[in-house]
Amino acid sequence: MSDDIVRALIRARAPGALAELAAYVPDPTPVPVRLDANEAPALLPTLSQPELATLREAMHSVEPARYPDVRATALRAALAQRLGVAGDQLVLGVGSDEVIAILLAALAREVDGRPPCILVPAPTFVMYRISARVHGYEVVTVPLDADWDLDEARTLEAIHTRKPAVVFLATPNNPTSGTFDRGRVSRIVDAAASVDPPSIVVIDEAYLPFRLAGDDPWKGETGLDFLARSSHVVVLRTLSKIGLAALRVGWAVAHPLLAHEMEKVRLPYNLPTPSQALATCALGPLAPAIDRHVASIAKDRTRLIEELRHVARVHHGRTDANFVWLGLEGTTGAEVTAALKERGVLVRNFPAYPDRIRVSVGTSAECDRFLQGLAELLGAR
Ligand code: PMP
Repeated sequence: MSDDIVRALIRARAPGALAELAAYVPDPTPVPVRLDANEAPALLPTLSQPELATLREAMHSVEPARYPDVRATALRAALAQRLGVAGDQLVLGVGSDEVIAILLAALAREVDGRPPCILVPAPTFVMYRISARVHGYEVVTVPLDADWDLDEARTLEAIHTRKPAVVFLATPNNPTSGTFDRGRVSRIVDAAASVDPPSIVVIDEAYLPFRLAGDDPWKGETGLDFLARSSHVVVLRTLSKIGLAALRVGWAVAHPLLAHEMEKVRLPYNLPTPSQALATCALGPLAPAIDRHVASIAKDRTRLIEELRHVARVHHGRTDANFVWLGLEGTTGAEVTAALKERGVLVRNFPAYPDRIRVSVGTSAECDRFLQGLAELLGAR
């Protein structure tokens, strides 16, 4: 078996962008407290016996010999009803990760002889950039301002000069956890409609349930209200953050004509039957259990933030998601992450933001273990 042939053909045939990318490999160390991936704490231990029985019942209908329902009919109907949108506005994917890839594949045409581009703030969710590069897009980046909010002037300028195919706005944003100012989002949405050809604005609401469970700066308004007024808005949602990450169910809500194009890209049997069945159950009979889980995470978030006041040399801004974006003084995120890992707690650090760590809200016990480790490292106040 010769490596040389394969190397030569990769060099010649793989898109240039792959050379700059690395496969995503989460830290494999078996650390007992994992607060590095913005997951919710375990859901099963919070369910009552009847709720567990309902879940098991949902799995009983899964026939492994048959392909999944191509249109995910039951799940689509449940989502459409819950969101108050039409079924043909929904594109369902294997997590919103896949929906991002589907959207980018559907809009990848060159414009005026130039490759398409996306516009993203920095920092934000990395899959926008990765997926864009894989699909042949250039990536235009506008740093967030000193409060980790959108830099409106530079974003508007970039929309007018670069005419991006898609502007991605995750709100609450990952990894910064704050919600973007609604007025700024609104003016960016307006600017995106004014260029020729217009840009799509994705409002990614992966962490919406946690914004709604707190002191909501948008007062209940969501990306769906933007979409109702502006047909070039696409709203992204997911079940991953509220206790159902294993299902890999995410979706876009879009104008039906755009959803129709995206459906041409989506692989027909993308959403496995167990995921469809359990997600439908989670949106129906198990909805109260999921709401309970979200409320309990929001409560632990409040306590975590209160307790952080007693730890020296840390600070943070708005926290609207299920994780905190912590600034450190007199140390680095890499050092703190390594030292916490030795204490059995995994958090995320970001090489581009050396004085920061991101920590997900776990169970009360997990938060305590994190707080204890952090206070040992940074001192009490
Ligand atoms: N959007 C944002 C802002 C995220 O942080 C994430 C997950 N980290 C996703 C989308 C993707 O979620 P999933 O593919 O699990 O639905």
